[in-house]
Amino acid sequence: MNGVDMLPGVDSVINLNCHICGEQTLNLVPSYSTLPRVASDCVPWRSGGRLGICTSCLCVQNPVDKDWHSETAEVYAQYKIYTQSAGNEQSVVSSGKELVPRSTKVFQQLLSYLDLNKPGRLLDIGCANGSLLRYFGTLAPNWKMVGFEIDNKRRSEVESIPGVEAFVSGSLDNIMKSFDLITLIHVFEHIPYPSNWLENLKKLLNPNGMVVIQVPNPMQNPFNLLIADHCSHFIMPDLINIVHKAGYEVITSSSKWVSRELSILIRPAEFNHTDIKSPDRVINEERFSSYPESAVQWLHHITQQVESLPKDKPRGIWGTAIAATWLFSLMDGNVEFFIDEDANRIGQEHLGLPIYSPETVPKESIIFVALTPEIAKNIVSRWSHLDVSFFVPEDLVS
Ligand SMILES: [Zn+2]
Repeated sequence: MNGVDMLPGVDSVINLNCHICGEQTLNLVPSYSTLPRVASDCVPWRSGGRLGICTSCLCVQNPVDKDWHSETAEVYAQYKIYTQSAGNEQSVVSSGKELVPRSTKVFQQLLSYLDLNKPGRLLDIGCANGSLLRYFGTLAPNWKMVGFEIDNKRRSEVESIPGVEAFVSGSLDNIMKSFDLITLIHVFEHIPYPSNWLENLKKLLNPNGMVVIQVPNPMQNPFNLLIADHCSHFIMPDLINIVHKAGYEVITSSSKWVSRELSILIRPAEFNHTDIKSPDRVINEERFSSYPESAVQWLHHITQQVESLPKDKPRGIWGTAIAATWLFSLMDGNVEFFIDEDANRIGQEHLGLPIYSPETVPKESIIFVALTPEIAKNIVSRWSHLDVSFFVPEDLVS
């Protein structure tokens, strides 16, 4: 996602208010601030961030204060998307284990909730270069589409997509239409005060209009805690509480639509849920109690693993996304290449280094697999015949 404006008044003093529930009950995780971070467009970012957990609503978040606003503005000012894949959308694993564009996977799941035969209108907030719109246009030629971004960098590219009737930038207040479906794919985790924001979004919905929200699942992929321009690290109960507070009801929700991501389809509720600490927050308390501290500890452990990697052989990083970018910054320049199985990325460059296919990795290299442990182990077992030494992150605490 390319970020969204909608930043409410920037706080003039640092405070520790929870931006989800509004209580002044945010406790910081002290060891987070020494970790280097990553911008969401996969660029290394300095350490010095802050991560907190609200003791009232339990949502993990980066305090939305003056520092967060200025860093986020800095990230968005230089934002580039999908440079590793020459502009192609990120691929995700499909049920058949092959890689498919994220939009394909999302709409495979959404189709049973949509009537694409009737005319309709879609708004994609954070449309970037229009990958989702391009795909949806092929599925639903009877629908009209609008793309929204914070700036105009991609205007002509998005406007040229068949079925796109408008590209709007700046503020959502500039949108004069109403919609049957609004998509927020990797957007909601960037938005301060998400409950108020979502409540305001209702004015852009037709009667029976729906909103789909997809965010990273930080418990399955703690590397996402390192993203400097995210401000919320939701788990599913957080999302459910927030949509209820904003006056919506849940049509369906899943952690399986896209692996390691949370998806939720909602529509305005006929009656209001007002209690953000609603009984819907059914969580495994024991597991939750160790998050996010255990995740931050796990990240620190990776920094130690990287320090102990042998330095006398060519070194590479398996992956080209957030985790791989972070590993690159930990390796202090002692990296020669990246490796990816995504055909869109092989042969391109990431951070000035070549992206190889697994088959072309230099022999006897040291490879750190920059992915979550389960996926990393799967890769090592599939590619165990390569003449390289693999290193993988230790298991997550569960
Ligand atoms: Zn809170």
